[in-house]
Amino acid sequence: MYLVSEVGELAEALRKGRGVEREFADVAAWLLSLANLAGVDLAACMEERYSSCPHCGNVPCSCVSKP
Ligand SMILES: [Zn+2]
Repeated sequence: MYLVSEVGELAEALRKGRGVEREFADVAAWLLSLANLAGVDLAACMEERYSSCPHCGNVPCSCVSKP
């Protein structure tokens, strides 16, 4: 799967400290394409999952130690 390959390339770019922006873009593009092919509204999923802090549930986060 191309997404997995791109994640590996991103990890390598982060390790080397160069080409990071390009690899993040590649990972995002493949992730969005995969969600589209699966019929998943990724924006809606992100909103539902991360519209509030996953730990305390508040907006803004009121955790004593930030996750
Ligand atoms: Zn919180």
